[in-house]
Amino acid sequence: MNVLLHICCAVCASACVEKLRQEGHRVCGFFYNPNIHPPGEYLKRLHETEEVARKEGFSLIIGDYNVHNWSVRTTGLEDEAEGGKRCLECFGLRLENTARLAREKGFDAFTTTLTISPHKNSQAINEIGRNISDELFLVRDFKKKDGFKRAQELARKYSLYHQNYCGCIYSLNERQKNGRIQKSTCSLRTKSPAS
Ligand code: SF4
Repeated sequence: MNVLLHICCAVCASACVEKLRQEGHRVCGFFYNPNIHPPGEYLKRLHETEEVARKEGFSLIIGDYNVHNWSVRTTGLEDEAEGGKRCLECFGLRLENTARLAREKGFDAFTTTLTISPHKNSQAINEIGRNISDELFLVRDFKKKDGFKRAQELARKYSLYHQNYCGCIYSLNERQKNGRIQKSTCSLRTKSPAS
């Protein structure tokens, strides 16, 4: 089948493309992530994905970076924890637009790299995809059968940039907050033996 693969980042893309090809599909990537903040980070992840597409030899379509749409969709969910309702809306927006493009361009199916992350609920992602189009959505859990491990291997092979937060401003804030906590815990520990 001709599959349109929604790609969240380069690290997740390579192993998913490999898996779909092993299943006998032809893959076209779709980088569509208006959730990513700040714009510099968006460009970095896009550039890395373009590099992987070139090295792995698959076509890549680049979606709009329409931050406004993402903000509207997630309004009121700013304080949700990662993995909560905000994330479900974030997945929904990205998958709806992937489905729209798949229909417009006549793809046989669409799916997403999002399920390769051990931090993301594959069942919820697959349910969203099936609700958008039971006919077109390919249910997958790319983290299974060491999928995430394979993604790490390919990331090392291609020396890919590996981000340390999911993407949106809230996940960035959370990471920075945790980073500060870890830093202060660390300095407390350093002092401890001397006291
Ligand atoms: S934490 Fe990740 S999945 Fe959740 S809203 Fe932010 S970017 Fe989207």
